Amino acid sequence: MTNIKLFMEIKIDGELLKKAVLVYGTRSQERMVIEEIAELLDALMKYHRERATIGNVNEEIADVLIMLGQLIYMLDPSSEEERSVEDWINYKLARLKDRLDKHQNKSINN
Ligand SMILES: [Mg+2]
Repeated sequence: MTNIKLFMEIKIDGELLKKAVLVYGTRSQERMVIEEIAELLDALMKYHRERATIGNVNEEIADVLIMLGQLIYMLDPSSEEERSVEDWINYKLARLKDRLDKHQNKSINN
């Protein structure tokens, strides 16, 4: 729980992410999103086979978060017709909380 709390307090410099997109270009950075996700998948698979450490996984999580920040910027999610990433996160977390509450109530009643 403490680790999750720490993660949520991490701030990523949006201006730095924008600069990376401007310097390297959207085509390059969109490919990097895919590459970093693939590296995270690989690290997770190796971790479960005890061929990577949690540190290796953490490094790839960091890479993915940084690239997702750039992806959000590149796709420019500001739209009045579509939900933003933040809106989706809030919606999905509320839904998850609701499901967990129902699950907990079900467990208590059984
Ligand atoms: Mg990586």
